[in-house]
Amino acid sequence: MEEKKLLIEGRRLDGRSPDQLRPVKLKAGVLKRADGSAYIEQGNNKILVAVYGPQELHPRHLQQPDMAVLRCMYNMAPFSVEERKKPGPDRRSVEISKVVREALESVLFLNLYPRSVIDIYIEVLQADAGTRVAGITAASVALADAGIPIRDLVAGVSVGKVDGILVLDLNAEEDQYGEADMPVAMTGRDKRITLLQMDGHMTREEFRQALQLAMKGCQQLYELQKEALREKYSSTPKEVTG
Ligand code: ADP
Repeated sequence: MEEKKLLIEGRRLDGRSPDQLRPVKLKAGVLKRADGSAYIEQGNNKILVAVYGPQELHPRHLQQPDMAVLRCMYNMAPFSVEERKKPGPDRRSVEISKVVREALESVLFLNLYPRSVIDIYIEVLQADAGTRVAGITAASVALADAGIPIRDLVAGVSVGKVDGILVLDLNAEEDQYGEADMPVAMTGRDKRITLLQMDGHMTREEFRQALQLAMKGCQQLYELQKEALREKYSSTPKEVTG
């Protein structure tokens, strides 16, 4: 692969230090017609998440008699990447939908809603690496916004290796030219890992350090998740005057 220097005097090309997240904006409840929603900007990523349910699942033969079915649809808009992406599902989005569903499933109480469905739609409007994990961070907030009971929030971030150095929250350039990319998602309170993937190579020691770095990033994202929910739910309604 083409070589590209990604670290200059310990700084990344976007000015960050190796252990720094991209700037994050996270907001709960941005869509009126979904049961729950959230919007996240993380660096140049822009992702909208909508949650519907729990509601009765149709057709009925898809229903589970003792629990709800959780469905997750990850979709990248045609205009989300440099070259227009062909609309519709592809192998990558099917895989991401599956791992995101699995990353969130364990914090839900699906047995509370027999014969029902909970749908999570992750719409990537602009992509710049780490969209699956940013999607998970926003999806947890959207689930909470929908009033669906959850054990914990799940936050995700990717850790990678560029120019031999471990870095937090890869951007697209680092993802493309770096030596490793490891998306991780974990619960906010007790740090249980619900997603871990790896593309590239790390030594055992690097892997250990990468997990520590991911944990630090997820903790920061967890604080932002709680803040986004507080912002929506703890403010007193403004009085309409005039
Ligand atoms: P993630 O977004 O979760 O990191 P990948 O590692 O598969 O998932 O993708 C990394 C980045 O590569 C994406 O965020 C996006 O910026 C870019 N990318 C993915 N698919 C495409 C595509 N079909 N065309 C152009 N860029 C893409």
